[in-house]
Amino acid sequence: MTDAASDSLFGGRLTIDLDAIVSNWRFLKDKLATGSECAATVKADAYGTGLTQTAKALYDAGCRTFFVALPVEALKLCRGMPEAKIYVLDGLFPGTAETLVEKGLRPVLGSVEEIREWADFCRTTQIRHPAALHVDTGIHRLGLSADEFDAVMKDADLIGSFTPTLIMSHLACGSDPAHPKNRDQLAKFRAMTAPYPDIPKSLANSAGVFLGSDFHFDLVRPGISLYGGKAIDTAPNPMQPVAQVEARIMMVRDVPVGDTIGYSATQTAKRSLKVAVVAAGYADGMIRRAGSTDAAPGAFGVIGGHKAPILGRISMDMITLDVTDIPAHLVRRGAFVEMLGPQVAASDLAAYAETIDYEYLTSLGRRFQRRYASIA
Ligand SMILES: *Cc1c(COP(=O)(O)O)cnc(C)c1O
Repeated sequence: MTDAASDSLFGGRLTIDLDAIVSNWRFLKDKLATGSECAATVKADAYGTGLTQTAKALYDAGCRTFFVALPVEALKLCRGMPEAKIYVLDGLFPGTAETLVEKGLRPVLGSVEEIREWADFCRTTQIRHPAALHVDTGIHRLGLSADEFDAVMKDADLIGSFTPTLIMSHLACGSDPAHPKNRDQLAKFRAMTAPYPDIPKSLANSAGVFLGSDFHFDLVRPGISLYGGKAIDTAPNPMQPVAQVEARIMMVRDVPVGDTIGYSATQTAKRSLKVAVVAAGYADGMIRRAGSTDAAPGAFGVIGGHKAPILGRISMDMITLDVTDIPAHLVRRGAFVEMLGPQVAASDLAAYAETIDYEYLTSLGRRFQRRYASIA
């Protein structure tokens, strides 16, 4: 089958721009306080962009530290990046220390139990394997409390059994720079880690990078900003978009005034409409809540620079778009409509669906044709 023929078997295509991801990484790196390293968070398939492809592009650009959530993600990542330090944010799952050590992976130890298990394993091998320590400064998910951390650090036998290569914590409210919790977590992190000047420290996710150099410490762990997402709610997003979703027009039809469009008849035609039916739906990650009703507009696609509002519910395999005011030659069977990308920001789309761009990116493209190319 020719490429063109196989292309036409898909309802839509997802284009990932690895150069844009690398430029975003460089942009963040340039913002850092002197001496701070820019790592990359590549959990959840690098936020939907492809774990191995994205990590390799960043590695080739000079990135040397990577964070995934799960041990299984770390195992996929560790091939072909000999100098990479790979941390597993979700920590040490029971009985997995040997596998991690074999592959040179580092758990982010988030509880006393995890620390004990890692220390025990290290003692049996008589090697002080590297691991990060996660301290909780107020998000109350993973991480040691101040008292637990203090006790661990004073337990020479325990802490002496392995090599703590990083002490990290995670911000709860970084996307809102005015939130007092940011400064509060910073103060707690400083107080907890001050006695250990020789161990590198990390507090910032993407939002933390934008909060200023106080938050940068020795290493930052951006995720969403690498992928073009909006880390700060209250400021324009300086990052380049890295993903584009285009859905194919299957047919264009007329809907008379007063008739309804889609499941549950949530949207009535207020005038006579031209409707394009495109081959992307919630099974492709187009979140259902972004549909429209008579009471509230939905999200939109873009065809040839023209906005095409979503009409009615998003269904599993298709979306109906209002193309009434778009020149007919642009709205042909087989043409593509941008549903996400340079003209439809993930954060704007997310606002219609009452979610965040993180959810859009990580849900995308299980059924789209995926390709790596420039989207600029
Ligand atoms: C996901 C995650 C990050 C990256 O966060 P972004 O907001 O996507 O930049 C950093 N650190 C931890 C602990 C995380 O869970």
